[in-house]
Amino acid sequence: TVGGDIVLEVTGLSKYFGGLKAVDGVDIQVKRGGVHALIGPNGSGKTTTLNVLSGLYKATSGKIVLDGTDITNMPPHQRTAAGLGRTFQNIRLFRSMTALENVEIGAERPGNKMIGDGGDALTERALEALNFVGLGNRANELISSFSYGHQRLIEIARALAANPTLLLLDEPAAGLNSTEKLELHELLKRIAAQGLTILIIDHDMTLVSEAAQHITVLNFGRRIADGESMAVLRHPDVVSAYLGT
Ligand code: ADP
Repeated sequence: TVGGDIVLEVTGLSKYFGGLKAVDGVDIQVKRGGVHALIGPNGSGKTTTLNVLSGLYKATSGKIVLDGTDITNMPPHQRTAAGLGRTFQNIRLFRSMTALENVEIGAERPGNKMIGDGGDALTERALEALNFVGLGNRANELISSFSYGHQRLIEIARALAANPTLLLLDEPAAGLNSTEKLELHELLKRIAAQGLTILIIDHDMTLVSEAAQHITVLNFGRRIADGESMAVLRHPDVVSAYLGT
């Protein structure tokens, strides 16, 4: 393992939109394996952080090191090649294509060894990812025929197909019913059991407290708490940030 125990090291990360400090000097250390959650009230800077990590936005300042590689100034596709996978808050699948075709797009990660093997290896990798999320038997159905929850799982499969070291999940439980949330929770556990690391953003405190071993809390763009999940959720600053007191 290249970067040792720490898979993602974020130091002094800031993102300003004009005068608005959406993210303001945040440090995050994500340990290898398991689930790390980034939580905080609405507008606290969670999505902006994720967008800066994945390269959608350029950091105003700070440093991002993934598995020993400084990715701070890399464009998104290079970060993908470096091992960063992500899903979006709003599902971004091609609705007129099949589940398999969508996931194959994910498998075409630049730098992936399979490229050059022809299409078969990509298809195989994509099917494997769909099987992993439990939808391999519906690989050839159009996206439009899947429930919202299953579309989320397909999005995760697409990210997994690129074989990421770190998977960023932006509110994966949003819009899911309670059964789908259970399925998602179970999937997160299986992903982590494969040795992959997940950094998840979510409002769903139940999911977060059950799925994550480590939590970082943001408020007004700053880190207000960080550590083992149960301790963080009981932290007085966290409680008052959520209650708005
Ligand atoms: P969260 O995900 O925690 O709800 P966000 O990261 O979406 O918070 O937003 C943090 C702050 O940055 C908010 O005040 C939001 O209005 C602002 N913000 C987010 N994106 C932009 C943008 N593209 N331009 C200007 N302001 C933004």
